[in-house]
Amino acid sequence: MANLTIKNLFKRYDNVGKKTKTVNDYAVNDLCLTCNDGEFVALLGPSGCGKTTTLRMIAGLEEITKGDIYIGETRINDLHPKDRHIGLAFEDYAMYPPLTVYDNIAFNLRAKGVAKGEIDGRVRDIAKLMHCEELLDMMPVKLSGGQKQRVNIARAIVRRPEILLMDEPLSHLDGKMRQSMRVEIKRLHIEINCTSVYVTHDQLEAMSLADRIAIMDLGVLQQFGTPMEVYDDPVNEFVAAFIGEPPMNILETTVIKDENDFFFTFAESELRILVPARYYSKVRDGFRVKMGVRPMDLYVGGPESKGNPERVAVFENLGDERRIGVRVGEHMMMLITNDETRYRHGDIIRLEVNGEKTHLFDLETGDRIRSDR
Ligand code: ATP
Repeated sequence: MANLTIKNLFKRYDNVGKKTKTVNDYAVNDLCLTCNDGEFVALLGPSGCGKTTTLRMIAGLEEITKGDIYIGETRINDLHPKDRHIGLAFEDYAMYPPLTVYDNIAFNLRAKGVAKGEIDGRVRDIAKLMHCEELLDMMPVKLSGGQKQRVNIARAIVRRPEILLMDEPLSHLDGKMRQSMRVEIKRLHIEINCTSVYVTHDQLEAMSLADRIAIMDLGVLQQFGTPMEVYDDPVNEFVAAFIGEPPMNILETTVIKDENDFFFTFAESELRILVPARYYSKVRDGFRVKMGVRPMDLYVGGPESKGNPERVAVFENLGDERRIGVRVGEHMMMLITNDETRYRHGDIIRLEVNGEKTHLFDLETGDRIRSDR
């Protein structure tokens, strides 16, 4: 076990930026990150944001354009991949089809010249840990997706790596299998207590597994924090919109002053939301800004409610929760409710918004505008 430190890491491919947008043609752009001993860190972001490239540079499979990577005190830039004490589990299972599961797991130990008796003990221990003992005599072609993924991870950890790297290991699995493998990975991490870096574009996976999440966009790290930090305290509009399902409602608004209060107002809508007093030093009459509020901070008001009447445009009954969408100007604003009412398209609800839970984002840069307290 060791900590992993990434210092000012850059990657430029010859043709990068042609297919996917990047900043200054860097696939990875000035990335700084420290994963502590035993920590589970998720690299999260949309397709093309540089997650896999980062992982491959850590593994030694991709040349580093600029910057340094350390495992513990050792700078590993120039170390051969096999000398980095890293375990790799990629989305492709990459097993050797003619070998049994046992031989697939044992393969790297044999290549390293580990004694036969020790290999047997280690393969069986890992198989037990990964709950795949009954698969040891099977051929890879006979395995289901979930079983393949167990074996894939078993192969990555049998060498007792200091750092475990996983690249979208659950992406081939269907919903139910993903859920159960997610629980398995969490259990495994607690049991082997290995510093782990996990690439995913699925925010739910990152939120449920990681101690800290590094959110990337266009090769640039946006925020690195615990799940609660990135959810409650996003640094910018990108992070706010990427974390949370359904996503945060983010709408352009004009702030107006009415007597001593400020209100968020919206084009082509009667909705007004009281601006929390903590933002009063940041806003003025006519101020244009983006306002964000999470779906769980909107409510359907009761009979006495003074909330603005809004027409239900979308109603989704998900069993344990219900989602209502109302149109605010050109935007759809989603709210989550546990009440049992089955709304229909066109029903009128009184929309209440917890203004205290609103976030402000700069119209141009998307940066969060922080309140005074
Ligand atoms: P995904 O989730 O789709 O795998 P990602 O976040 O892992 O995306 P990367 O695969 O790291 O993103 O790609 C980052 C950028 O680098 C993209 O613009 C991609 O097109 C580019 N890129 C990746 N590999 C290569 C390569 N071998 N040659 C040229 N460009 C590449």
